[in-house]
Amino acid sequence: MIVAGIDIGSRAAKAVIMENDSILSSVICDTGPESVKTSYLAMQQALNKTNLSFDDIQHTVATGYGRVLVPYANENISEISCHARGINWYFPTVRTILDMGGQDCKAISCDGGGQVTNFAMNDKCAGGTGRFLEMIAEVLNIPLTKIGELSLRSKTAVPFNTICAVFAKSDAIAYLKKGVPKSDILAGLHEAIAERSFKLLKRVSIKKDFSITGGIAKNGAMASKLKEKVGLEPLLCEDPQIVGALGAALFAQERCERENIEKDIKVQYGYSDAMGDYFITIDGSRCDGCGECVRACPSGIFVVVDNDNGQLKAAVEEELRKKLAFLCPGFQACSSKHEVNCHSVCSKEAINHSW
Ligand code: SF4
Ligand code: SF4
Repeated sequence: MIVAGIDIGSRAAKAVIMENDSILSSVICDTGPESVKTSYLAMQQALNKTNLSFDDIQHTVATGYGRVLVPYANENISEISCHARGINWYFPTVRTILDMGGQDCKAISCDGGGQVTNFAMNDKCAGGTGRFLEMIAEVLNIPLTKIGELSLRSKTAVPFNTICAVFAKSDAIAYLKKGVPKSDILAGLHEAIAERSFKLLKRVSIKKDFSITGGIAKNGAMASKLKEKVGLEPLLCEDPQIVGALGAALFAQERCERENIEKDIKVQYGYSDAMGDYFITIDGSRCDGCGECVRACPSGIFVVVDNDNGQLKAAVEEELRKKLAFLCPGFQACSSKHEVNCHSVCSKEAINHSW
């Protein structure tokens, strides 16, 4: 079973392809101005890492702020649910998640099944988000990927009373002009962001285990500051940035499994020929194996058998599958001829005829 998840975030798009509960490939690229185009590009790049094509994907779930802009997705699910589900796949013991994304930050509580039980988010201000760190990296003229490393070299972090994007930027520039080392400025900013994230986490109550997801989770200095504040070692997965897309793929997998089970539950017997469609469908989820249909059918079409789970269920006699139109006139014609028929005796309404 091949399924896919795509997370169209404000800064980055992530795609994950899974087969039978294993990750086949994943991709992270810039979202850019055209989300629809990016959604195709990201998934194609993920497919290029496999020998699969779009047609091989059975079900796709989209998430993230641009989730409604993925034309090929079968459905879309909020990123809060997807992050909880994705991290649960890596670490089923996680109960508290801090998702540090490009444009917002979310504190999420979840249960052992990866279901969200509570959440709080900061989406009104860019402070402490990926965009904010990008802006600071630009001001300090350092590559974004290096700011965590440099921050860890700090001897004395300088204080930032606010991480409002506008004020923090001017404070950072003022510190630079005074000759404060960039590492100390970064350490101060990491401290301020960690403090604000800690306050957000307290709104959902912090329980063991704790994890950080989103692109900022890759910043070692941030993970270390959060560890200090929260008092718990964060469980970090291989790539925290793909957790939302992974959760979306897991939802897609769940949908397919459910559809396959439903297909298995309803068993169809019969055939089509030039005269018409002759199918009898027995809904195994309704049938209790009472055997009334076996006793009622004048043509002996039904049997009751043990299914794979040791339950009694009605079935059509194997050797009669190809002779149904000869043996059965259809349930309406049968009702007019016989006092009872398989439909009238089945209190569970488990039998359906196509003719
Ligand atoms: S009568 Fe209905 S419930 Fe009883 S065995 Fe037949 S199909 Fe199942
Ligand atoms: S409609 Fe009548 S003949 Fe046909 S399967 Fe049911 S009981 Fe048998």
